[in-house]
Amino acid sequence: MKYDYHIIIIGAGSAGLTVASGASGLGAKVALIENRKMGGDCLNYGCVPSKAFLRTAHLAKDITNSREFALDAKLGEVDLKKVMLRVKNVIAEIEPHDSKERFEGLGVKVFLGEPEVIDNYTVKINDQQITGKKLVFATGSTARIPAIPGLDKVSFLTNQTIFDLEKLPEHLVIIGGGPIGLELGQGFRHLGSKVTIIDQNDHLFPKDDAEVWDVMKQVFAKDGVELCLECKVKSISGKDDLKSVIVEMNGEDKAISGDALLVSAGRIPNTKGLSLEKIGVETNNRGYIQTNKKMQTSVKNIFAAGDVTGPFQFTHMAGYQAGKVVPNAILGFGGKSSYTMVPWTTYTKPEVAHIGYTQPWAEQLGIYRDSMSFPLEEIDRAKTDNDRDGFLKLILGKKGKIIGATMVGEKAGEMIPLASLAIAKGMKASAFASFIFSYPTQAEIFQRISFNYLKRSFKDWMKNLIKKIFL
Ligand SMILES: Cc1cc2nc3c(=O)[nH]c(=O)nc-3n(C[C@H](O)[C@H](O)[C@H](O)COP(=O)(O)OP(=O)(O)OC[C@H]3O[C@@H](n4cnc5c(N)ncnc54)[C@H](O)[C@@H]3O)c2cc1C
Repeated sequence: MKYDYHIIIIGAGSAGLTVASGASGLGAKVALIENRKMGGDCLNYGCVPSKAFLRTAHLAKDITNSREFALDAKLGEVDLKKVMLRVKNVIAEIEPHDSKERFEGLGVKVFLGEPEVIDNYTVKINDQQITGKKLVFATGSTARIPAIPGLDKVSFLTNQTIFDLEKLPEHLVIIGGGPIGLELGQGFRHLGSKVTIIDQNDHLFPKDDAEVWDVMKQVFAKDGVELCLECKVKSISGKDDLKSVIVEMNGEDKAISGDALLVSAGRIPNTKGLSLEKIGVETNNRGYIQTNKKMQTSVKNIFAAGDVTGPFQFTHMAGYQAGKVVPNAILGFGGKSSYTMVPWTTYTKPEVAHIGYTQPWAEQLGIYRDSMSFPLEEIDRAKTDNDRDGFLKLILGKKGKIIGATMVGEKAGEMIPLASLAIAKGMKASAFASFIFSYPTQAEIFQRISFNYLKRSFKDWMKNLIKKIFL
């Protein structure tokens, strides 16, 4: 059979764009279909706007706290319209990189429109049928809207609409304390809104090591972010300017009322129009497309990457998986995905960053040997900068090799790659002892852990031997 394209990709977000540029770079004839905006969630409604927004919000927090630094600056009235204009300007600056024009310049045929998958080789797009030897589903995910009585009768925000707000909410009520709710919630609090985050769990950051929550609950308390934990949302009522969320807390009903409501209660995969059942692409019980390690679905010529496959919904993971799709789909070989070295950062202030195994995960797998922690407040640069909240924890496997790391700190996301390198190179906890770190840097925390590790491994009999021979 002769196909119009070697590869048809549905979805032009982080995963789809990576497959498109990689495949066309290898000489494949590529079609890329997008039904909304080139760049996907990350550029338009996710990483980029949220991080641009947080930069302003965290600066506002520093201004409010300026007395800690012996200044007396005051945060004037926040014009949210201006803040969001800056957010949009940042998106506009990055947009050309993901644009139709750029990809067409790379030789990719870009279709904007609503596709319908006809069979496992054929896609209908804009009244035209195109065929591809391989299909790639990279359609991402969308905010999950829980079935809460009354939610459909009030206006609410999601990650798709919150960056269009023009007026700072007086009281922002957030349903869902995952990374999106926490980052945005803390950000709005720093800008001056009252913020309440509602979550059914008894603690937040459930995927991170337990010590993270010990630090972060105090941070949120200092910030004045109100948390309603172990709270079950029962119903929602109200009008546009005042919405009441009825929660059950400790067996009693309580109303939390605010002028804005953000729903950040998880994600659902975008699979509309992909005809998954019809063509036999298997999904899990939450609707996420299942793949093998080559990112191949249950239908041999169809691959999937990114949020639509479920685990680890991050841009870097979409890119990583897409990097496996390209050779496997085109050459038939080219590496398998592995999820033992996945980093993630929650961009709160301070940041919470992680790589590899957490302690509970390593324990569960029977590969945990030990862990080493060091508090940030003992690092000189943390003192000069007054960035005292946080720690570094290294998870050690057999023979003392680093297999995971968690860090809380203002620059944790920037520093965690040191641990990534250590894991990738099979380094031990002692490895950083021989590095020369610039003084004073917060990264010295890695060296302090190594020194402690060496001290700890230095047994009494060794000291006695030295005494006898050398002293
Ligand atoms: C508020 C927020 C903040 C985030 N911050 C971070 C962060 O700091 N770091 C990080 O790593 N990750 C972050 N993420 C997650 C990150 O945005 C996603 O993991 C990433 O965008 C996934 O890429 P993707 O290509 O799988 O999906 P997407 O980027 O969503 O791309 C999928 C594309 O497919 C299109 N599409 C969907 N259905 C169809 C269809 N039927 N036909 C054609 N096109 C279709 C969509 O319109 C979209 O353009 C954040 C997410 C949110 C919501």
